[in-house]
Amino acid sequence: MKVIWNNQLVEREDVKIDMEDRGYQFADGLYEVIRAYNGILFTAEQHVERLFTGAKKIDLILPFTREELIYLLNELIKENSIETGNIYLQITRGVSSPRNHTYPKIEFTSPVFTASTTVVPRNLETMKDGIKVITLPDMRWLHCDIKSISLLGNIMAKHEAHKKGKDEAILYRDEAVTECSASNVSIIKNKILYTHPDGNLILSGITKTVLLKVARQRGIIVKEETFTLKDLKEADEVFASSTTMEAMPVVEIDDKPVGDGKRGPVVKLLQELYVNEVELTCGS
Ligand code: PLP
Repeated sequence: MKVIWNNQLVEREDVKIDMEDRGYQFADGLYEVIRAYNGILFTAEQHVERLFTGAKKIDLILPFTREELIYLLNELIKENSIETGNIYLQITRGVSSPRNHTYPKIEFTSPVFTASTTVVPRNLETMKDGIKVITLPDMRWLHCDIKSISLLGNIMAKHEAHKKGKDEAILYRDEAVTECSASNVSIIKNKILYTHPDGNLILSGITKTVLLKVARQRGIIVKEETFTLKDLKEADEVFASSTTMEAMPVVEIDDKPVGDGKRGPVVKLLQELYVNEVELTCGS
């Protein structure tokens, strides 16, 4: 399997990352995960747009245009013959030596870009059975809209869930539910879908955006409003969403079942509508 290193397809063992790379020393960088179905990238433009938006927020000058990046990613998918799988890509601000917190001037360093693929089939069984989660205070920073490679707060939350034998952690600030450690979260109550509004407290999930679009098209009322931990625990249905999980039913929260503890009808419908959207771009 080839990987991308800067603007070339190379063997993984040929990639050389400097120990003073700011990604390694400061987590000074951004990432994206894009899914391929039938060898075609889904919502690639939206992922690339989010990368460019994030880069602007941290004054990182990307060394390619949107079109050049998409071209490169498609080359990688083709080269590695990926049918259903993920591209992980990341860009760091590059090397600053000696170590110095201040952003180096662009004349003195170049960003370092890498991307790799993995074959990952759709997890149909879990998408039917659902996942179990715990709730935790959201201890992360106040720029969760930036898809930063600095994920310590996220991985600590996920690790806490795994220690308890659960799959994910739903996070809350004060009483408001924000998102999960690696996905967005939405609830259904009396047939209305509630999800935290975009802003600095959550990552504006591309899967969530697709799901909200198809939900609205199907006549489901969608409210992008904050909801509380109490609302979460009294919801009829709860689901997490991300590029790799799609719409994932949450069937248990803090050891208590959500509804009857099974995937509910709205989440099932959203999963079907999502597949329709994928098929429009990627074929069936
Ligand atoms: N929120 C967080 C914290 C995430 O890490 C992710 C995905 O990695 C998401 C939300 C979902 O984003 P997307 O649907 O664009 O994959």
